[in-house]
Amino acid sequence: MAATGFIKAIGMALKIEENVSLKTYSTMRVGGVAKYLARVSLKNDLVEAAEFAKDKGLSIFILGRGANVMFKDSGFDGLVIVNDIRGFEVIEENDEGATIKIGAGEDWDKTVLKTVEMGLSGMEALSLIPGTVGAAPVMNIGAYGQEVAEIIESVTAYDLRENKFAVLGKENGGFQYRASRFSGEDKGRFIIADVTFKFHRNRMKPPFYRDVEKYFEDNGVTDYSPQAVRDAVIYIRTNKLPDPNKIATNGSFFKNPVIGKEKWEELVKKFPELDTAEPQWPQKPRWFLDNGTVKIAAARLIELAGLEGYEEGGVSLWPTQHLTVVNKDAKSAGDVLAFKDKIKAGVKEKFGIDLEEEVQVVG
Ligand SMILES: Cc1cc2nc3c(=O)[nH]c(=O)nc-3n(C[C@H](O)[C@H](O)[C@H](O)COP(=O)(O)OP(=O)(O)OC[C@H]3O[C@@H](n4cnc5c(N)ncnc54)[C@H](O)[C@@H]3O)c2cc1C
Repeated sequence: MAATGFIKAIGMALKIEENVSLKTYSTMRVGGVAKYLARVSLKNDLVEAAEFAKDKGLSIFILGRGANVMFKDSGFDGLVIVNDIRGFEVIEENDEGATIKIGAGEDWDKTVLKTVEMGLSGMEALSLIPGTVGAAPVMNIGAYGQEVAEIIESVTAYDLRENKFAVLGKENGGFQYRASRFSGEDKGRFIIADVTFKFHRNRMKPPFYRDVEKYFEDNGVTDYSPQAVRDAVIYIRTNKLPDPNKIATNGSFFKNPVIGKEKWEELVKKFPELDTAEPQWPQKPRWFLDNGTVKIAAARLIELAGLEGYEEGGVSLWPTQHLTVVNKDAKSAGDVLAFKDKIKAGVKEKFGIDLEEEVQVVG
């Protein structure tokens, strides 16, 4: 549905539209209508948008590029704030590294490119992850041996509870595997306006993920510069994952489940394949974590449940990454949700494990 027009325009800056289709605001490209939507490019606009929602008693949903969000057909009966705050301010740069404050609405991969070109290390393995800088701390994005929390110094955010901006140091971010305070206990409370990162100039060190190591071997790379790691990651991701600009997807739909040691021992007796390397799984599909728990590759569980390449209702699993759900021609968000429930049910039936969604389903 097309927007029914602007209902609020303050100066040249803040515009709030009414009845906006959310389909193009999520890379899954399904979903209903937002009652109101504001695109915010200034910190002051955030405050205005928040006040607008408060006056009308509306809930707020903060959105970057929607790479990790899909909307239900019921849409969002409140105000969606699309964060488009820009900026790239080098606070300090020296032989050791640099401290840079970056606007939440900046494109993530363009930011990685810029910092790699400055010879800085910290984000290079996170190349080609779709989305914005402001969303990166929320899910503590990670890939190929790096996690964004490692280089976050602080986050500036508008606190919707206290109605003021706050600067939260890394120690106050509650960062964990694919989670943070912003996705956990304080979900929806803070609108991140900018993030300050502390980069260094050290090289990443082996051992690398098997795919990265293979790329280095095949290409005779021995200097693991930020650019070399970025090149490797771009090569691997381009060959393995769908490009959300061309194919509707939110990437990995499920988290890798983490289970207790006892459950793992029972499971591996029944399914020794979970503890073996295979040609397509050159690394064993499980990781023993420091706290005694075991993380299992959800993609392997999906494969072993016989769901590889499964397709129904215009939705399918991506052939080279079984965690990735793609919308080929689903009629609605309902089709995508029914599909992911089937995958979850298949894994539960075979292994007794509940897969948890990594993608946020809104509505
Ligand atoms: C093909 C593909 C591959 C992917 N690969 C990876 C990967 O390797 N590793 C990985 O970790 N992720 C991956 N993702 C997931 C996704 O790219 C990240 O989660 C990314 O950070 C989402 O950015 P976004 O701007 O689109 O956020 P959105 O999807 O718009 O939002 C994500 C969450 O953050 C919140 N949020 C967004 N902006 C703000 C803000 N400014 N303030 C407060 N809250 C905010 C939203 O409310 C929502 O809860 C992949 C996704 C796709 C489609």
